[in-house]
Amino acid sequence: MLDPSILKELRTIVGSDHLFTSPEELAVYSYDATRVSSLPWAVARPATALEVSRIVQLANKHRFPVIPRGAGTGMSGGSVPAKGGVVLSFERMDLILDIDVLNRIAIVQPGVITGDLHAAVEAKGLFYPPDPASSGFCTIGGNVAECAGGLRAVKYGVTRDYVLGLEVVLPTGEIIRTGSRTHKSVAGYDLTRLIVGSEGTLGIATEIVLRLIPAPESIRTLAAFFLDAGGALAVLPMITTAGILPRALEFVDQGALRAAEQHLGWELSDGTAAMLLIETDGSMTSARAEITRTEEFCAAAGAVKVVRADEPGERDRLWKLRRSISPALYALKPGKLNEDIVVPLSRIADILGEINSIAKKHDLLIVNFGHAGDGNIHVNVMYDDGERTRAESAVSAILTAVVRMQGSISGEHGIGLSKAQYLPLETGDEAITVMKKIKQALDPNNIMNPGKIFLSAERGVRSAE
Ligand SMILES: Cc1cc2nc3c(=O)[nH]c(=O)nc-3n(C[C@H](O)[C@H](O)[C@H](O)COP(=O)(O)OP(=O)(O)OC[C@H]3O[C@@H](n4cnc5c(N)ncnc54)[C@H](O)[C@@H]3O)c2cc1C
Repeated sequence: MLDPSILKELRTIVGSDHLFTSPEELAVYSYDATRVSSLPWAVARPATALEVSRIVQLANKHRFPVIPRGAGTGMSGGSVPAKGGVVLSFERMDLILDIDVLNRIAIVQPGVITGDLHAAVEAKGLFYPPDPASSGFCTIGGNVAECAGGLRAVKYGVTRDYVLGLEVVLPTGEIIRTGSRTHKSVAGYDLTRLIVGSEGTLGIATEIVLRLIPAPESIRTLAAFFLDAGGALAVLPMITTAGILPRALEFVDQGALRAAEQHLGWELSDGTAAMLLIETDGSMTSARAEITRTEEFCAAAGAVKVVRADEPGERDRLWKLRRSISPALYALKPGKLNEDIVVPLSRIADILGEINSIAKKHDLLIVNFGHAGDGNIHVNVMYDDGERTRAESAVSAILTAVVRMQGSISGEHGIGLSKAQYLPLETGDEAITVMKKIKQALDPNNIMNPGKIFLSAERGVRSAE
């Protein structure tokens, strides 16, 4: 709880209209997409880096937690105020400050919605590739903190590949600039990369310089439907060995497909058991040639239906289906443990086979979909009341198998609260000791988003619904 004198100081910093303390307001900022929730003590909506810095300095003086928050769409509990404290929401810092066509950069505030940035740069013939499936409602600040990946990472990489520089409020209140506005810089340690993906635990991004690239001339899209997952997965090595690098290559299993179709009231799959959603881009000729080859591979692997979607409206329809999967799954069961594992491309079929066995062994429904092109599969362990313990055991078995296959327990959602207990499985204890030393050096009073990434004395918290 915060002393009234601290609340008064916070009000002085952000203005009384931008400090929330009522139970209803606090509830709105208490959860993310994991549905874990924990009430903050107050919510502040700063308008400048200076205001952020003053709040952080106050937090150090009085030792209260500060939790940066974008849109709360995170999948690992990163913005959940697990230990109470003051949530900093960036709704008022939502400006695209500059789109510099000549230098191919954009300068944005953290609260900009990712999809709005896409639209703004595309209107100028440029392209900002990172595209989480949540881009219609997540923020760039949240993307930076999680190093978001998404639908186009297979060809274009993830958020860290586009962040050239940052303005950061450190956990001790200093405001620093990292990186540069140029496309290259090796001046000193790469603090930009340290902050990107640090899940709001090492600093607060208050301004972000992003690299842009030219928009591709042409995009071609297809959805292919298969009678079993094996058919769909057989297409992946065919595409790789043909030297084609699609802009998106998504796999959707039967459970996910049905859930999304029911959610939207559509029937596209005609009772098939797996879908690939594939997109190529480049020049008119190359994008068309590559999608045609890809369609041939799908046919050779036994696709029973292929939908080509060359017009923007048709493409949007297929992507709407894909983007709606995550929320649609809640119609299957009230609880879900959402993992975002990554395995080497050659092990995708192996891990899906193993997940199938784990589902049978634990008598659970597990639904899989995601970015198969880069080995990043969203594994959703669904559960009812009474199945929670079994769901936890299944997750543990899945993550152990992933690490055994030289994969990673999180491709893009971060560790946050939900995977803290599994981090040592992948990194080992020595690497965690190094990470903790960095945290301690930057945040000696542990005020910046405490309780995330590292398992604290108490057990890791999982989504509790
Ligand atoms: C339907 C759905 C689909 C999704 N698809 C994808 C996907 O394809 N790929 C993907 O990568 N993710 C995906 N996500 C997860 C989520 O959208 C991303 O992690 C996103 O980056 C979170 O952004 P946010 O603005 O909601 O951040 P929040 O959830 O509010 O916060 C996430 C983390 O960022 C920190 N943070 C927020 N702002 C700042 C800041 N300015 N400075 C420092 N730290 C900050 C928070 O403390 C927290 O740790 C999906 C989520 C949903 C609900």
